[in-house]
Amino acid sequence: MGGVPELPEVETVRRRLAPALAGRRFVRVAIADPRLTRPLDPADVARELEGERVAVVDRRGKYLILRFESGRALLIHLRMTGSVLTGEAAQGDDPYRRAVVALDDGSDLAYRDVRRFGTWLLLEPDEVDAYIDDRVGREPLADAYRARDLAAKLEGRRAPIKAAILDQRTVAGVGNIYADEALWRARIHPLAPAAALDLDEVKALHRGMRRALEQGIARQGSTLRDYRLPDGGSGGMQHEFKVYGRGGEPCERCGTPIDKIRVAGRGTWYCPSCQRPRRAPAYAARSSSSRPSRSRRHSSV
Ligand SMILES: [Zn+2]
Repeated sequence: MGGVPELPEVETVRRRLAPALAGRRFVRVAIADPRLTRPLDPADVARELEGERVAVVDRRGKYLILRFESGRALLIHLRMTGSVLTGEAAQGDDPYRRAVVALDDGSDLAYRDVRRFGTWLLLEPDEVDAYIDDRVGREPLADAYRARDLAAKLEGRRAPIKAAILDQRTVAGVGNIYADEALWRARIHPLAPAAALDLDEVKALHRGMRRALEQGIARQGSTLRDYRLPDGGSGGMQHEFKVYGRGGEPCERCGTPIDKIRVAGRGTWYCPSCQRPRRAPAYAARSSSSRPSRSRRHSSV
């Protein structure tokens, strides 16, 4: 099964890392993989990082952010298979270890990445907020984040709702898994045009998204492929998925087998009964494999 770290996975990493890193100084930094820092030379980045002291371990969307006392920040994006390891999990032989930071308490922080899509970007104090704000929308779990904020981002967008919420500028940190889980909770078809949702549907999506993400955090994320918690352990959210990766299994609400389609190039799981298209026949025709007669009628007009 695919899947990459999303908000709950990165937030879980952040919570585990914070106690190990807050107040620690980077004594020695070795970056073994030039892809991690490109186009910058990894040796230059490593040298710049040495001496920095961590003030706060932060997160925005899927970015893990080590904010230093100097005001600089290291943005770590785990992408597909990156993990940050501490303590025992940072030791021993590992062919996928791409970077090691020796901390001033004698412990190590290791960065492991099987497929090498992850990135480390060191930003100067005046660059940090602008860089993030250009790429990442509001935090969906922030107290101040309301359904009307989501509605404002969906206004006028003809893209399928799933594609719209995968766009990190719509809302921060929702990826393929939690998009499917949120849409199932909200009973919205993944191909529904974003702008066609009414206010009740946007409210349901806002609530569904928050619940799915909160549950993901409560289960310490889902363990997919090469995702690891900082201590080398794994999360348990993969046992709680309502639709993601569950093609052919019964929907827990209605018993209908979960169906799989592609939306925005991504495998997409949904319940054809609970998440029935309501307004736009065009996307109903594209997706109603469970109701062939309706599909024929729409495609003939
Ligand atoms: Zn259902």
